[in-house]
Amino acid sequence: CGIFGVIGVADASNFVALGLHALQHRGQEAGGIVSYDADAGFQSARRFGYVRDNFTSEGVMKHLPGELAIGHVRYSTAGSKGQTAIRDVQPFFGEFAMGGAAIAHNGNITNANALRRELIERGSIFQSSSDSECIIHLMARSLQRTIPERMEDALRRVEGAFSVVAMTRTKLIGVRDPLGVRPLVLGKVGDGWALASETCALDIIGAEFVREIKPGEMVVITAKGVESQFPFRPQPSKFCIFEHVYFSRPDSILGGRSVYETREAIGRELAKESPVEADVVCPVPDSGTPAAIGYSLESGIPYAMGIIRNQYMGRTFIEPTEQIRNMGVRLKLNVNRALIKGKRVILVDDSVVRGTTSRKIKEMILDAGAKEVHFRIASPPTAWPCFYGVDTPQREKLLAATMSEDEMREHLAVDSLRFISLDGLYRAVGEAQGRNSDCPQYCDACFSGEYPVTPADQLEQGFQM
Ligand code: 5GP
Ligand code: SF4
Ligand code: MG
Repeated sequence: CGIFGVIGVADASNFVALGLHALQHRGQEAGGIVSYDADAGFQSARRFGYVRDNFTSEGVMKHLPGELAIGHVRYSTAGSKGQTAIRDVQPFFGEFAMGGAAIAHNGNITNANALRRELIERGSIFQSSSDSECIIHLMARSLQRTIPERMEDALRRVEGAFSVVAMTRTKLIGVRDPLGVRPLVLGKVGDGWALASETCALDIIGAEFVREIKPGEMVVITAKGVESQFPFRPQPSKFCIFEHVYFSRPDSILGGRSVYETREAIGRELAKESPVEADVVCPVPDSGTPAAIGYSLESGIPYAMGIIRNQYMGRTFIEPTEQIRNMGVRLKLNVNRALIKGKRVILVDDSVVRGTTSRKIKEMILDAGAKEVHFRIASPPTAWPCFYGVDTPQREKLLAATMSEDEMREHLAVDSLRFISLDGLYRAVGEAQGRNSDCPQYCDACFSGEYPVTPADQLEQGFQM
């Protein structure tokens, strides 16, 4: 998901709509904005679909006045069951002692089931099926005197991954979980401030990138400025390495590094680790493009846009049902025959999850007359589900959970298939010594099976680590 908030600028909700539009790649199912204005009070709008279609000046925006607003774009993850209902669309707003608050959450709470049971037993009335709603109820029950203190109280009970943007009538609040699994950045816009999942959302509103919110940090922003505190027990950080590979936008800056440059470096590592003789390097667009450029630069094999993407389709993976996803590949990608016919083709993609994309693309490339097809993948085999806010299917559906690399190659029926090594990936994100196996510098659970936070709800439901 993507989160965004702004304080201290006129028509704050317009900035939020723009910010969310820049974060649309992080969630395309639905979006929402909450604003506060002294006369109008808290106002909220939640809609299915794209930001640009819903949050327009002729439409809902005029009902979201004020100098303080937050927003959320959603895609449903591990915790959620079935289709999203509008009541599951964030931000969530609640009124309780000390006023009220709205929150937008990116990540996944790994003990949400247990918390929900406890809260319901004690009388909380849940409005949604979302794990994130627990935070509001925990805040409402806290005995602390200020809302930021109540939020600290609430978040100390929450396990898992959370980057949160919240607002009261006078404050914008940002928090990252102690491991800092999901990103969150601070920006300065005119006399006001902005919080965003990624820097690309600051760029769109002309905000200056100030810094990242640190793992375990909470910032409380008012007209007077930014106050920072560290309410949690300090722990080694575990930023999601897959943000670098796929999730974030290539024009964002993560950990001081351009995501684009990291992806290009991944492609270079791949070319060093797994060279092959071929005529062209083609990306599976758009997610494989920077890595393919890196592979081409390192290997000297020419780069070609052998597959063309229809820009009017969304990300296939984020379509919730398998059937739609299956169709999606063909609606979205088409082979550029002229470049492929008679060639030995290296295809570079960011990941293989179920193998749906790779299988379809291989078929299309062979139909177009390719002589050989070699897959090079910019992440290690995805053998474990993510429980921290990225939508991966159950373990059984992950190709790499049940097959070796060689079996996958056979299953996909391609001439070769190679994944970047975990160490190679760490080198590409700037860890010259590779992965520190005693204390990995990132979360890489979907590749290694080493979960930095115990997925309590999942274990309860029979998941085996
Ligand atoms: P598959 O077709 O193998 O199930 O999925 C892999 C494709 O889904 C890749 O092309 C990748 O770009 C895309 N993708 C989109 N969202 C995600 C995600 O959240 N996780 C992973 N691993 N891949 C994703
Ligand atoms: Fe990121 Fe994978 Fe960890 Fe999930 S399991 S947070 S996708 S590295
Ligand atoms: Mg892709």
